[in-house]
Amino acid sequence: MTVRTEVCIAGGGPAGVMLGLLLAREGVDVVVLEKHADFFRDFRGDTVHPATMNLLDDLGLRDAFDAIPHKPLPRLDAVVNGVRVHAIDFTSLPKPNRFLTLMPQGDLLEMLAEAGRAHPSFHLHMGAAVTGVRRSEDGRVSGVHARTADGEVEIEATITVAADGRASTVRDALGMRPREYGVPADVAWFRLPEPETPLPDTLAWITDEMMLVTFPRPGYLQSGMLIPKGSFGTLREEGLTAFRDRIARSVPRLAEQTAGLESFDDVKLLSVQINRLDRWQVPGALLIGDAAHAMSPAFGVGINYAVQDAVAAARLLVPALRSGAGIVVDRAAAGVQRRRERPTAMMQRIQRAVHARIATGHGLKVLDNPPTRTQRAVMRLALPLFRPVVARVVGYGFRREPLP
Ligand SMILES: Cc1cc2nc3c(=O)[nH]c(=O)nc-3n(C[C@H](O)[C@H](O)[C@H](O)COP(=O)(O)OP(=O)(O)OC[C@H]3O[C@@H](n4cnc5c(N)ncnc54)[C@H](O)[C@@H]3O)c2cc1C
Repeated sequence: MTVRTEVCIAGGGPAGVMLGLLLAREGVDVVVLEKHADFFRDFRGDTVHPATMNLLDDLGLRDAFDAIPHKPLPRLDAVVNGVRVHAIDFTSLPKPNRFLTLMPQGDLLEMLAEAGRAHPSFHLHMGAAVTGVRRSEDGRVSGVHARTADGEVEIEATITVAADGRASTVRDALGMRPREYGVPADVAWFRLPEPETPLPDTLAWITDEMMLVTFPRPGYLQSGMLIPKGSFGTLREEGLTAFRDRIARSVPRLAEQTAGLESFDDVKLLSVQINRLDRWQVPGALLIGDAAHAMSPAFGVGINYAVQDAVAAARLLVPALRSGAGIVVDRAAAGVQRRRERPTAMMQRIQRAVHARIATGHGLKVLDNPPTRTQRAVMRLALPLFRPVVARVVGYGFRREPLP
């Protein structure tokens, strides 16, 4: 079966679903193919940044967003060697979105998909895995091949957008390889039961032995321990008791919770990557989100960057698609890279610096307990000066993308 559309999007993650919605509300016919049957997988980040919330306001989705349980965090705290540090404070941002929110990504995607379905030109196919690209006689990408439960499908499109994440099938099919910026850490990803006495919201726990991030989710703490890259096997060999002890030593407040870890099978390895394509576009195809630039979990900005790529892509592609000419659409697609590459590269540079210094997987002694006089002075005098700048960079990124 062959289906004809204007835009075919591979991947129903934040980049793909948002782009599908934005194009459909402009009347563009769009097919989004997502290989999984649903959006609910817990290895995805849950952070929704102020820039994304501003966008949802502009799209009239505030009520739908507020109807989903979520946890606003006006401040992000880190406990460094037992000392609580207010690392990022979003309350200096303009109203109304002066906080970061934790919302299960599956719920956010479902909400965006629902908003998309309100437009007749939005076609989301779940359980549809892209397996390769089609090309026209002149070599231009003309759509994709996909596998669904009902068999093979061909999607013919004016432009194909790869939003299929950091292991992008479309990127492989195009023979494109991103430039890798080595990250020294991986993440061991597991759940801890919620403490009976609620903990103050804490995103990171840093000691000289390890760094642990904890995202409060309903009934449990989604936790990620940064470990040196390639060391997951050793961790596994050391066994569950050693793993639990390691957490308990660094975060005594979570010692009891570690009993909730019953087997090492509950601990998953997530590989951390930072990479970027030199070129995000070829005739007939555009790559956005992690498919163009994998983001590390540092500052939890990957979703926001994927969404901002989608906004830029929609704004540039819509007028080009109306012109109908492939060459005009290709030029618009190249414009997406020109617009988004620099802010992405700047954030990736910051992430790399963080991985080189703090998030190495080895832990780091950045603060004494109790803090020395100099450390106290830095926290009292310098941190308040930096906080509003950091809040802007993390909350909005380096370039804001207006809606089409
Ligand atoms: C351990 C870890 C924790 C992270 N935590 C956070 C966080 O808290 N906050 C944050 O903002 N970012 C976080 N990130 C980064 C974030 O996950 C990504 O930057 C973001 O999800 C990119 O969105 P995307 O839409 O480009 O790709 P993805 O979210 O990867 O979505 C791609 C989609 O394409 C689908 N797909 C893949 N192949 C195919 C195919 N062949 N056919 C059809 N569909 C396909 C996938 O199923 C997926 O749904 C984290 C990353 C890691 C590694």
